[in-house]
Amino acid sequence: MERPLIGVVPLWDEEKDSLWMLPGYLEGILRAGGLPLMLPLTTDTGALRQAAGLCAGFLFTGGQDLFPGLYGAEVLPVCGPVCEERDAMERTLFSIAVWEQNKSAFGICRGIQLFNVLLGGTLYQDLPTQLTESALSHQQKPPYDRPVHQVTISGELRELLGFDTLAVNSSHHQGIAKLAPDLVPMARAADGLVEAVRMKDKPFVWAVQWHPEFALAEESSGKLFNALVEACRNTGR
Ligand code: MN
Repeated sequence: MERPLIGVVPLWDEEKDSLWMLPGYLEGILRAGGLPLMLPLTTDTGALRQAAGLCAGFLFTGGQDLFPGLYGAEVLPVCGPVCEERDAMERTLFSIAVWEQNKSAFGICRGIQLFNVLLGGTLYQDLPTQLTESALSHQQKPPYDRPVHQVTISGELRELLGFDTLAVNSSHHQGIAKLAPDLVPMARAADGLVEAVRMKDKPFVWAVQWHPEFALAEESSGKLFNALVEACRNTGR
């Protein structure tokens, strides 16, 4: 069976002025039967429309913080480094791939924050200073394949995984504040933070706040990548 082509948003290293990729993103897609293809970091609408036509789905990867102006907020001193070129690329790609062409999309970490912002939600720019009632640490130290907090799961994610709670890794200092109206929560941490979502009225636009790409040995990670590839087989090109 031919592998569905899945475009992967590249990571940006400001210090090295370079694009890079975590092998787990590609490996997760490969193991699930898809063919990952790393995209160029471009805001060229024509190039992105062509890429969207070629690919059955997209993986929106982790990375820098989103520019708070995207959700109408001032940049606070606690906000981390941003990558406005990625912001612009992903906004255009999401608009073409998801809105125009109904392609599948899976967001990880920055990806869930991106989907929320693009659909009208807001973010905490820094959980330790803004979600102070939380007793959880969302920013673990390596190794990143180790779970550090639980999430309570529901809806389609519960159906996919087959259990009510999941222990997840956590490497994020930002998170969803106001949830976008088109997103349905599918996992919450004990402090109330939304850690998985799906987009309403779309076959497969899902995102998680944790990092399955760092924990490919986990059954749940395999099932998430499988769900993306399966959705890509169904929606096709
Ligand atoms: Mn977390």
